[in-house]
Amino acid sequence: MVENERLRQEMRRCEAELQELRAKPAAPCAGCEHSQESAQLRDRLSQLQLEVAENKSMLSELNLEVQQKTNRLAEVELRLKDCLAEKAQEEERLSRRLRDSHETIASLRAQSPPIKYVIRTVEVESPKTKQALNESQARNQHLQEQVAMQRQVLKEMEQQLQSSHQLTTQLRAQIAMYEAELERAHGQMLEEMQCLEEDKNRAIEEAFARAQVEMKAVHENLAGVRTNLLTLQPALRTLTNDYNGLKRQVRGFPLLLQEALKSVKAEIGQAIEEVNSNNQELLRKYRRELQLRKKCHNELVRLKGEAPALNWFAQEENVPIRNIRVIARVRPITKEDGEGPEATNAVTFDPDDDSIIHLLHKGKPVSFELDKVFSPRASQQDVFQEVQALITSCIDGYNVCIFAYGQTGAGKTYTMEGTPENPGINQRALQLLFTEVQEKASDWEYTITVSAAEIYNEALRDLLGQEPQEKLEIRLCPDGSGQLYVPGLTEFQVQSVEDINKVFEFGHTNRTTEFTNLNEHSSRSHALLIVTVRGVDCSTGLRTTGKLNLVDLAGSERVGKSGAEGSRLREAQHINKSLSALGDVIAALRSRQGHVPFRNSKLTYLLQDSLSGDSKTLMVVQVSPVEKNTSETLYSLKFAERVRSVELGPGSRRAELGSWSSQEHLEWESACQTPQPSARAHSAPGSGTTSRPGSMRRRLQPSA
Ligand code: ADP
Ligand code: MG
Repeated sequence: MVENERLRQEMRRCEAELQELRAKPAAPCAGCEHSQESAQLRDRLSQLQLEVAENKSMLSELNLEVQQKTNRLAEVELRLKDCLAEKAQEEERLSRRLRDSHETIASLRAQSPPIKYVIRTVEVESPKTKQALNESQARNQHLQEQVAMQRQVLKEMEQQLQSSHQLTTQLRAQIAMYEAELERAHGQMLEEMQCLEEDKNRAIEEAFARAQVEMKAVHENLAGVRTNLLTLQPALRTLTNDYNGLKRQVRGFPLLLQEALKSVKAEIGQAIEEVNSNNQELLRKYRRELQLRKKCHNELVRLKGEAPALNWFAQEENVPIRNIRVIARVRPITKEDGEGPEATNAVTFDPDDDSIIHLLHKGKPVSFELDKVFSPRASQQDVFQEVQALITSCIDGYNVCIFAYGQTGAGKTYTMEGTPENPGINQRALQLLFTEVQEKASDWEYTITVSAAEIYNEALRDLLGQEPQEKLEIRLCPDGSGQLYVPGLTEFQVQSVEDINKVFEFGHTNRTTEFTNLNEHSSRSHALLIVTVRGVDCSTGLRTTGKLNLVDLAGSERVGKSGAEGSRLREAQHINKSLSALGDVIAALRSRQGHVPFRNSKLTYLLQDSLSGDSKTLMVVQVSPVEKNTSETLYSLKFAERVRSVELGPGSRRAELGSWSSQEHLEWESACQTPQPSARAHSAPGSGTTSRPGSMRRRLQPSA
């Protein structure tokens, strides 16, 4: 039935396909499709035939099985008949024997007593017979049971046979049905194939007819195109010629373009090179001019001090004249700076302008312009060269002040004092003075004296005196000149580098014995080296006095930052007070105020004559380059920029014919009032080599 259903479905599908095919308009290539379809259908047919053959073989197998079963049944029946016959025979034999026995018994009973013996024999034999009879009966029973059993089997077999017969008839009916179905399907398929074949033929014919019509049209078109072609050929020929010509041109074009580009490139390159070299040249010239301008400016400042005749020129031209110069010196990064991000460099320089310094503070770049900036690579000699002119002007009678400003550890002492192998400004200045003085020895007689003092907690102490702990006072000269002097400040006359070294050593020893931690102490006090150069022109008697103040200021770091207490706080307050007084003095000078608050600190009071109008000042702002110090560096550089913009009055030479300068007066006073230090003032300590006792007094006497 399943197979039947499947076949029916197949047939329905075939019909649907057929319908579809019929509904479809005949395409020009219908022939192909139909042949494909018919091939498919043929395949399908052969498949179905195969299936029919399979079904037939299955049927014959079933028939064979039925035959075998029938044969077996016949055999069983035969065996059963045999058994029945055997049993009947046996029964008959036994009944016959029984009957014989009964007859024998009866005949024996009817016999006379002489036959007693026989009876007895019979009686003896009788039990045997009885036994045999019993046995026969038992066997009979057994055989009867067997017969019943066999009958049962036979019955079952008959039933089986019957059901087999039924199955066979059923199967036969089914096969017949299948065959009929198959026959019908086959017939239908043949019909369909016939139809399809017809359709196909029809489609082919139609397509052929259509193709013929189309062919005709194409032929007609072709004829038209041919005539067109004939007319177009000459035009094509000219076009081809044109095209070939253009092709040739296009082929040559990249070459042409390349050449043009090359020449243009070369021209542009040359032009750029020319512009570059022009630029370089201009830049070089500009830098040279800048340097020249700076030099001229410096020279102007110097001339302004030396030649009053030039002052009017400078003022008329309205040139801002500064006789306070500010330079910065950046020390190298040292081991003491430690490691890590805090010890990274935060300071950069301008390669084209040595007066610019850039600081990276909290991620923000800040730039400052000063008179000159020394990078960590600058040597002591480089720095000295910058201050040399100032120092020599001291010989000519100018007062000069050189300050080293900056936070502790920024290199102030290194710049001022230096190391024994690489001395700083102090020693180099004195050396220079000696050489200069010697060069002028034919016309001038010079004496150079040095004093060393320290200002700590607003107390002034003499570092070369016998009692360094004694506080000194600054006094006005009693001569009414308005000049200041320090009674009791020791002054040594020096003539050679050895003398200076001895003086420095003495000062150092004094300081070391006084303070256990000199490093700490020196960073909290201002150290002053005061060099006085006195000259007399041998021919004219003109006297000049110049004073060179070399000041290693106390550390400029702010108190709030260190959170100091007690004595440290007091120290810091004094330092702040004196440094801000220095700033105030400079600000007052800058704004040309009538009153300049020199008296606000010991430092400014002491340096009054070296800071006011006719003197020259240089401030070296020491800078630490590391990241952790940028706040202090910023503060220092701001201070420096403020100081730099101060303008002082025109420099004037402190030269007086035949009169004493305030400094000489100071010296005189000191010599008279404090006999003990003055005695020492004429000899370098412990040397004896420069000892010229009484020479100063002798020389002072005529004037006095
Ligand atoms: P300050 O006097 O400002 O406290 P110092 O002069 O004592 O600072 O310098 C601190 C440290 O840095 C010293 O060890 C010093 O030798 C070193 N130093 C400072 N400036 C320089 C420099 N230009 N070259 C080499 N070392 C320097
Ligand atoms: Mg120092």
